[in-house]
Amino acid sequence: MKSLKKIIKEELSRLLCSDCGEHGEAYFVKDNIWYDNVPPYKQKKVLCLSCLEKRLGRKLKKSDFKSDKHGTFTYKQPWWDKID
Ligand SMILES: [Zn+2]
Repeated sequence: MKSLKKIIKEELSRLLCSDCGEHGEAYFVKDNIWYDNVPPYKQKKVLCLSCLEKRLGRKLKKSDFKSDKHGTFTYKQPWWDKID
C-alpha cells in the first residue's frame, strides 16, 4: 500500500508546471490558446502562466481566459489584476 505521504507528493506533483517545475496557477485559458500552443503530450498537464506566455510568445490578456461561467473564479486569483 502506498503511504499517505507518497500519495500527497504525487498529487502535488501533478500541479507543478511541466516546463519549469514550479507550482502552477489554477486557470483555464480558451481552447485555441491551449491547444495551438501546448504540444499534445503536455495538454493534460499544468503550465504556469509565465511558461504559457513563453510558448505563446506574448503576454496573456484577460480575454485569453475562459469565462467564469466555468466556475474557475479566475477573477479572484491574486494575479488577475496584473494582466491586461
Ligand atoms: Zn512554468
